[in-house]
Amino acid sequence: MGTSAELPDTTEAASGAGQEAPGQEAAGDVAGGGREPAMPGAPTSLSPSRAADFMRCPLLYRFRVIDRLPEKPSAAAAKGTVVHAVLERLFDEPAERRSVPRARSLVVGEWERLLARRPELAELFARPEDTPDGEPGGEPGGEPGGGVPGPELARWLAEAEALVERWFSLEDPSRLEPAERELFVETRLASGLRLRGIIDRVDVAPTGDVRVVDYKTGKAPRPEYAAEALFQMKFYALVLWRLRGRMPRRLQLVYLGSGDVLTHDPDERDLAAVERKLLALWRAINEATESGDWRPRRGPLCGWCDFQAHCPEYGGTPPPYPLVVQPRLPLDDAPGSDG
Ligand code: SF4
Repeated sequence: MGTSAELPDTTEAASGAGQEAPGQEAAGDVAGGGREPAMPGAPTSLSPSRAADFMRCPLLYRFRVIDRLPEKPSAAAAKGTVVHAVLERLFDEPAERRSVPRARSLVVGEWERLLARRPELAELFARPEDTPDGEPGGEPGGEPGGGVPGPELARWLAEAEALVERWFSLEDPSRLEPAERELFVETRLASGLRLRGIIDRVDVAPTGDVRVVDYKTGKAPRPEYAAEALFQMKFYALVLWRLRGRMPRRLQLVYLGSGDVLTHDPDERDLAAVERKLLALWRAINEATESGDWRPRRGPLCGWCDFQAHCPEYGGTPPPYPLVVQPRLPLDDAPGSDG
């Protein structure tokens, strides 16, 4: 484990509007153990993104976790992946080389690396001449391998570079030595609920104090939505606390889109409340899993939802439920009833 020379940072969030587009994380919490295999295909664990999905709209959760319906590639999500990769990789450099030009220069390479893993992302920047109706014009979007990027891709790369550059106005990577980057964490609560997630960065001060850092490529939320944004960070704090026996001292959200930093110092009551909330969520998810009753909940983010064609709120029909619905006993037949 390394140490951070800057902990704690006292920068507080200012203002900002909007949140990142959904879908920044791959759906699918169902792999692995956790729930006993009585119901194959049922969710077995909870991550912050999927917990947020269920709170936003239970039907959205079902489509992502149980049906695993495909979603269209998103330029915003791909940009987030590339920017995260650059910020992570920059720490491979010696401290004195963690400069803005060096960080910007990593963007194209990380995009190419992502494209190699997910070739379908090329369609985000396909030019008319690259479509089957036009003359072949080299690589979709002009990169990689085609030399000059197409205008859409060039603009997108410039936006990613600008986000990377803004990071330097919020933190000084030459003064940081993260203890962990892209840390996968998983723990099982006493109740049996398995929690998992990936933490962007963990800093550890010489005192042993831990700071959990998450990068967001969007703008900081308005103050009334800050609690929602911090829920993810408290989730990570709870997992780390349970795993390592020491509560993180500081949670820090770095909003590259607006140039804000939101921090929170959690306490035991905070994390106990998050644990209670997660258990309640998990009970609700289990009930919906067994009954097959996943209610749509319309909200402002429906406009971002790829599943409108399957959503009753928009005149669609969900696909057949892939799990076995558990019959419910009538109350009179329930064990222990008088009747
Ligand atoms: S369109 Fe809205 S209500 Fe329908 S599944 Fe998506 S988020 Fe839920």
